[in-house]
Amino acid sequence: GNWLGMVGGGQLGRMFCQSAQSLGYKVAVLEPAESCPAGDVADLHIRSAYDDAAGLAQLAARCQAVSTEFENVPAPSLDALARDVRVAPAGSAVAVAQDRIREKAFIAGAGVPLAPYAEIRTAADLDAASPELFPGILKAARLGYDGKGQARVADKDQARKAYADFGGVACVLEALMPLRAELSVVLARGFDGRCVVYPSAWNEHRDGILAVSTVPTQLDQQQAELQRSAAQAALAIAAGLDYHGVLCVEFFVLQDGRLLANEIAPRPHNSGHYTMDACITSQFEQQARVMAGLPLGSTDSLCPAIMLNILGDVWFDPASGARREPDWAGVLAVPGASLHLYGKAEARRGRKMGHINVVAPTLDAARRSAAAAAAALHIPFDRAA
Ligand code: ATP
Ligand code: MG
Ligand code: MG
Repeated sequence: GNWLGMVGGGQLGRMFCQSAQSLGYKVAVLEPAESCPAGDVADLHIRSAYDDAAGLAQLAARCQAVSTEFENVPAPSLDALARDVRVAPAGSAVAVAQDRIREKAFIAGAGVPLAPYAEIRTAADLDAASPELFPGILKAARLGYDGKGQARVADKDQARKAYADFGGVACVLEALMPLRAELSVVLARGFDGRCVVYPSAWNEHRDGILAVSTVPTQLDQQQAELQRSAAQAALAIAAGLDYHGVLCVEFFVLQDGRLLANEIAPRPHNSGHYTMDACITSQFEQQARVMAGLPLGSTDSLCPAIMLNILGDVWFDPASGARREPDWAGVLAVPGASLHLYGKAEARRGRKMGHINVVAPTLDAARRSAAAAAAALHIPFDRAA
């Protein structure tokens, strides 16, 4: 039959499986965990380490194309797979996204502006860091996500302490920028180099974790210009990487209106989950289409959308801290709301457990629905946002 392969068993892999299956594909997931969101819905779950030669060989033998759903798959594993099967994205592209030092150098090289930063490979690099980088954020070059592996530092002494706390791993030190907004661009690039770009999501983070993405269908002139520039920058990055698959580029909008790239993700992205309910083709279906060499789908969004992340916190009563089942019926009673849960066995604070997409004919109506859905789960939602 027609099989597609996925390295990684998290929620992004799960939603990929569901999309690929509805296009008629079977999906094999390679993930060492016994039970995992993607493995539980896959047609085949290969329980092996990401760098296990036998597991990778089994995946390559079964599938016509393989992709990944997280940054930290070893790039050599993707290179090894690519000897036997089509791989999207390539190990070389993923390797850039895995290392903030390489990532920033690459983005700058593509002509896209970034926040001022310095590479910190040794304590001496910190000693030499420009005072303009403070207050700043020290970010471990590898393995961080959801704000993990990052420390806000007011001055060089705090940076030295944070660097030591990280164990002296390679880092970037970035100036803390005055943000007006954050937006992200999700695009798909096929093996023929053709690209499609989704409408930008306007993102709000809480404690370093994406909380809300808002996607209007009507933009004011300033938003439209920012979206155009962001899309252009993301396309330049994708072309520069000779990227195949779904790519996300995160951006900052500064208080003075300038647009800076933040980071890239070589996969479908949390801020693109709105596409599941608001667009003709979801970002996960698009990933499957690239892999299978099918025509890319329309990225048009049909209506304003708001995505709310559901973290494990929702399972804990805010007053008593006791565990409780969230009020799903309350969410589903909200007009235009749809619920996507990832089937994770254990709810932990700060862990992504699912999301809600709200769609409505107008952005105001979407905000009213999002506020109601958030209230049902006792999640903060600022309607003015
Ligand atoms: P992700 O889960 O998106 O991969 P991450 O752990 O890689 O997150 P970043 O995207 O680097 O982290 O930062 C997380 C958030 O912290 C950003 O979306 C932004 O809100 C804030 N942030 C990061 N860098 C800066 C900066 N230089 N100036 C101001 N805010 C920043
Ligand atoms: Mg990141
Ligand atoms: Mg980020």
